[in-house]
Amino acid sequence: MPYRYEAPVSQTLFDRASLVTPGGVNSPVRAFRAVGGTPRFMVSGTGPYLTDADGREYVDLVCSWGPMILGHSHPEVIAAVQEAVSRGTSFGTPGEGEVALAEEIVARVEPVEQVRLVSSGTEATMSAIRLARGFTGRAKVVKFAGCYHGHVDALLAAAGSGVATFGLPDTPGVTGAQAGDTIVLPYNDLDAVREAFAAQPGEIACVITEASPGNMGVVPPLDGFNAGLKEICAANGALYISDEVMTGFRTSKAGWFGVDGVRPDLMTFGKVMGGGFPAAAFGGRADVMAHLAPAGPVYQAGTLSGNPVATAAGLAQLRLLDDAAYAKVDAVSAEIRGLVSEALAKEGVTHTVQAASNMFSVFFTDRPVRNYEDAKQQEAFRFTAFFHSLLSQGVYLPPSAFESWFVSTAHDTQAVERIAAALPAAARAASEATA
Ligand code: PLP
Repeated sequence: MPYRYEAPVSQTLFDRASLVTPGGVNSPVRAFRAVGGTPRFMVSGTGPYLTDADGREYVDLVCSWGPMILGHSHPEVIAAVQEAVSRGTSFGTPGEGEVALAEEIVARVEPVEQVRLVSSGTEATMSAIRLARGFTGRAKVVKFAGCYHGHVDALLAAAGSGVATFGLPDTPGVTGAQAGDTIVLPYNDLDAVREAFAAQPGEIACVITEASPGNMGVVPPLDGFNAGLKEICAANGALYISDEVMTGFRTSKAGWFGVDGVRPDLMTFGKVMGGGFPAAAFGGRADVMAHLAPAGPVYQAGTLSGNPVATAAGLAQLRLLDDAAYAKVDAVSAEIRGLVSEALAKEGVTHTVQAASNMFSVFFTDRPVRNYEDAKQQEAFRFTAFFHSLLSQGVYLPPSAFESWFVSTAHDTQAVERIAAALPAAARAASEATA
């Protein structure tokens, strides 16, 4: 297997892990299966850098898949965590930290009148779907191919071809009953959504979409797509759920809502709002949220929901994210995008860089990518070569061609220079790669 022996300590840890954990990892994409090689076991992170168990340092362009927007070990976030932890780690009672975090979310994201805290993005989307079904009294859910909403059974349904495809389970363990009410449609296609509503009048509870998708690479909504979804939902008595787990508090102070201004009925959050801890949320219209227990009949709960350490981390991170912080992340993202594109162009590598505010990804194709089918047309084998060249030079990309890259306020000139220095060889490797 190529690359296997480049990281001996990581390899030993991976071998140990593989004996006690399926595939050696606790979340599949960490295993490097799409790119091959040994996943790096990280031992510490500071600012824009990660250090692995073999003592090698990397410029981190994953940022824990989005959360670390201030970089690693930000002193004010660490201080808030230490202060919170010194008072205890979990009480199973209400606490002020969770109120303050909820207030911060409500203040930032205008459509969120009420919010419920949970521990993962998956929990947030699962609960939002249940609430939408409970509120509308309808069963069916529309989602889009290539959008990821966590590993909720009903949302793991994949697309078939054509419009208004009924989802079939593509993961063993998800039954037809769990996925049978899921309608999977092509992304960025409003006609498909109209047809689905016309074919099933009064049956669709909600449309859930990534506010701006980052899980098939970065594929922003076309102009008017989100507004169209909102309009179709409103006209048909369904709820419009915007999944901002990835974009929330990252693409602007108010997430993607702050960019496109389309007002969802419900929204889901995670990643950035937890400051590197397991905190997530769903919220929206007060009349809808009033259906949640104990105020209403739709049950939803969590032993560690609103955990005092997680909420302290999230609150500290959000309070540091002012306009200047977003301007900085946007600027460094644009700079890195430019460098990547320049290096690939120099080697004649066909590519398209797509961005949604500071989220971005590189597709190895010359055509704009508007949906999952387009994304799959790229020459992903070039990404593998590009990835490993950068990894060997100390730049850590997401280990898949279908993921967003993430940067932080800590990505300074020195970090950017390290990326710039690694790009020519990586672009050459991409150009020489064969399928
Ligand atoms: N929704 C979106 C848009 C995501 O990107 C993710 C995770 O990447 C999730 C939901 C699930 O979040 P979690 O991994 O915290 O369960």
